[in-house]
Parts: sequence; C-alpha cells; structure tokens
Amino acid sequence: MPGSDPAPPSTAATGAPLPIFDGHNDVLLSVYGYEGRAPRSFFQRGDQGHLDLPRAREGGFAGGFFAVWVPPDPAAGRPELRPAPEEDSAEAALPPPVGQPFALRMAMALTGTLFRLEAESGGELRVVRDVAELRTCLETGTLAAVLHYEGAEAIDPQLNTLEVLYRAGLRSIGLVWSRPNAFAEGVPFRFPSSPDTGPGLTAAGRELVRACNRLGIMVDLSHLNERGFWDVAEVTTAPLVATHSNAHALTPTPRNLLDTQLDAIQRSGGVVGVNFAVSFAREDGRRDTDTPIDALVRHFDYLSDRMGVEHVAFGSDFDGTGIPDDLHDAAGLPRLVEALRHAGFDDAALRMLAHENWLRVLERTWRAPAATTESGLTL
Ligand SMILES: [Zn+2]
Repeated sequence: MPGSDPAPPSTAATGAPLPIFDGHNDVLLSVYGYEGRAPRSFFQRGDQGHLDLPRAREGGFAGGFFAVWVPPDPAAGRPELRPAPEEDSAEAALPPPVGQPFALRMAMALTGTLFRLEAESGGELRVVRDVAELRTCLETGTLAAVLHYEGAEAIDPQLNTLEVLYRAGLRSIGLVWSRPNAFAEGVPFRFPSSPDTGPGLTAAGRELVRACNRLGIMVDLSHLNERGFWDVAEVTTAPLVATHSNAHALTPTPRNLLDTQLDAIQRSGGVVGVNFAVSFAREDGRRDTDTPIDALVRHFDYLSDRMGVEHVAFGSDFDGTGIPDDLHDAAGLPRLVEALRHAGFDDAALRMLAHENWLRVLERTWRAPAATTESGLTL
C-alpha cells in the first residue's frame, strides 16, 4: 500500500503472541498413551494436560524440545513413577533403573510417535535438525520439534544406537532422568536437598558426551547430580545447558541449580530453561498448583540477575508436571509473558527469553559431524 510503513508489523501491533521456543515438554508420552491411560490427540484442542497444537497456537508456543522419556518397566515390579507423597521428603529414594532393551522399545515407540505427528500435521509440525530449519519454522509459524531423549537408557554403552538416532534426527540428550543408568546418575525427588546426591559420570558417560560433541547433539544437564554436572563441564566443548531447571537458592530441590552451577553455565555461554513446576518454584517445594505465576517470575528474575538475561529461557515441562493454576496450559503463556513484562523485562529481553537465547546456544552446539578418518571410517 503506498505510503504505508514497509517494516513488518511488531508483535504488539498485530496482537500475535510472542513466539516461544521451549526447553522441555512431555507431550509425546501422553499422545502415545501408557499405563492404562488412553492416547490423546495432538491436533484437537483438549482439556487434559498442557499442550496440543490448538493450545500451542493460542499461546505462542512456537516449538521446543519434545522429550522421549522411558517410564518404569512394569516387568520390574515397581510400576509407580516415583514414590509420591504430598511432598517430597528429605529421604526420598532414587527411582530404580530400567534395562536397555525395554528402554529402546519405549524410545522407538515415542520417537515413532513424533515422526507420525509430523507426517499427519499437514506441514504444521516439523522435526528440525539444524538451526536454519528452526529459524524457518519460527518465521513461517510452523511448530518446530526437536527430538530430545530425557535419559540415555535406550543407548547402548558402545554408542551404536546413538549413531543411528543422530541420523534419524536426535539433536538433544539428557544423560539421565532421575535414576541411575550406564552413563551417570540423576537426582532423587527429595526436598530439601543439595544436588550432590551420588557419583559422577561413568567412563561410558564421558564417551557419550564426547560423541555428542562430535555429532552435534546437545547435552542436557537437567536431572543430573552435581558431580555429573562438573564432569560434563570438564569434558564437553559445547555451552552448558539445563533445559528445565530453576534456582536452588530460591527452591532448594536437587532438580534446581546451585549458584556455582549457574556461574559455570554463564561462563560457557549456555542457557537455563525455567521450569514451570510449582514444586521447583515454590519456596516450600510443595506440589500445590494453587501457586501464583509470580513464583515463576521470581526464578526468571533471579537467574537473569545472576547470569544475565542472555542465559535464561523457557523450559515449561508441559505435560510432565504440575504448573500454576493461573497459567493452566500452553494457551496461558501470554499471561506469563505479561507478568514478566510487568516485572521489568522489556521487549528485547522478552525476545531473548522467548527464542533468541536458544538459537544462539543451538548454533554453537549443533555442528556437522566431524569428517571421516583417513581410512574412510568413523570409528
Ligand atoms: Zn524432566
């Protein structure tokens, strides 16, 4: 139109929500269905859980890390996800390990679920494998899904599975969920507690980190115990990342990060995705969803003050945890963004939190695999 402003309309002018790329969700398991729970649709607006395509569109959820998480093996006789009292106690035990054959079978089911969603989405959801694809998705409004494994149980210690999974699209791995495996040990659901709850990485764990560096797979530190954290920091060549963890100084659960860990993440150029779990945000650590959104804002504030806003992002844990009632689900994201704006985060800071910080970290982390050796083999 002659005389009109050639600049693209701003988010505020169009009323469109700020596009948020998010550090963690567990929607794949609820879409797949498990342990007697019926599968649910990702494409129809539901009232269960937190995330589906319509609610993502409403709230500005532009994409994120889609977790493949292996539930406990029912055959092992301990089917409960975790011993779940009203509150996490100071003595809670670590959930038991799961075997690799069961983990691989479940991981294939959930990975297949993600690729099926992509195929059935009519171009609305795309599994992204590099930053150029991710940027294109953010620009065109295509929901961007990063294939993430939350716990490396499905991967054999010789790492052959890793090579195959990378080529299928795996771009992010948390070495552990909250249990031990062949590579490392996670933290229990204990409160209050330090994250120094067990041994560091095994030799296979160190090899896994090196292989991830070589392939360009992000290593996620959320759920890892403190000794494991420092072992990864020593081995890795990539920025340190915790996709869905908060500040231990405010909420002393071992799932949150000590100031010394935050400082290491900041020095490495990494990022922390703020987890919306009320039990990781409230001072008392209780799983009470009657918790104001401001409890999350306090963690955004603390982490930004400690590390700088360029090291903070979103890490919702949608469909994996209890979040504040007022936030409710992915459609409620604009209410959190408004609360952050009210707390003093300006447009530039909000864009960093929403996706720019993740883009920077992934640009430094997702590199092409190293060239083959002289023999032509990568061994
Ligand atoms: Zn988690």
